[in-house]
Amino acid sequence: MITLALSKGRIYDDSLPLLHAAGVEVLEDPEKSRKLILATSRPDLRVVLVRASDVPTYVQHGGADLGVAGLDVLLEHADGLYRPLDLKIARCRMSVAVREDFDYAAAVKQGSRIRVATKYTQTARQHFAAKGVHVDLIKLYGSMELAPLTGLADAIVDLVSTGSTLKANHLVEVERIMDISARLVVNPAALKLKREPLRALIDAFEAAVGGPA
Ligand code: ATP
Ligand code: MG
Repeated sequence: MITLALSKGRIYDDSLPLLHAAGVEVLEDPEKSRKLILATSRPDLRVVLVRASDVPTYVQHGGADLGVAGLDVLLEHADGLYRPLDLKIARCRMSVAVREDFDYAAAVKQGSRIRVATKYTQTARQHFAAKGVHVDLIKLYGSMELAPLTGLADAIVDLVSTGSTLKANHLVEVERIMDISARLVVNPAALKLKREPLRALIDAFEAAVGGPA
């Protein structure tokens, strides 16, 4: 049996067409059932639904043989996963945003310490260290946009796709840190033990992603 870890929402939705192209149909709709283990049209392949940030943990410790996780999530996770394949789905970017009335350029130039709220502390720490900007990082688990509006932080590091959430909250994107997309990650031990079927599935994913980038 091969176990594939996915998270509900955009990762699941964007993975379905790739699975379809790889000849796999998921037999249950996670929006219509409370099941966490979903059968597929391949008797030897099942899907497990986990939190987006738990996908690397499941794959690393063998709770799943492979999984789909955002680069944002992978960068916050210690390694132990095999060769991430860029699936080019769930695309967005990781950015720095501040209140419309906050002079970010001046704050950075003056070398003052800025307070940055984020779910992505590893990525944020690396980004500001590389720029030589002093930051106090405040770890949050959601609703990052609220932090600059309430005075909790001067800036946030968060995922942006259209920018409409920022706009609705009077925030502006002042720096683009990196482009984000979802990756296929594999448990290295599983790749040895279930080499043939896993290899075939990874190749099918690769072929499904292919075509014009
Ligand atoms: P959880 O619900 O477990 O806290 P989450 O809120 O990050 O996790 P989703 O909102 O489903 O879960 O996001 C899953 C992934 O989708 C992210 O890790 C990211 O890689 C990708 N993604 C693409 N666009 C966006 C966006 N605009 N905002 C957030 N995530 C996005
Ligand atoms: Mg979410």
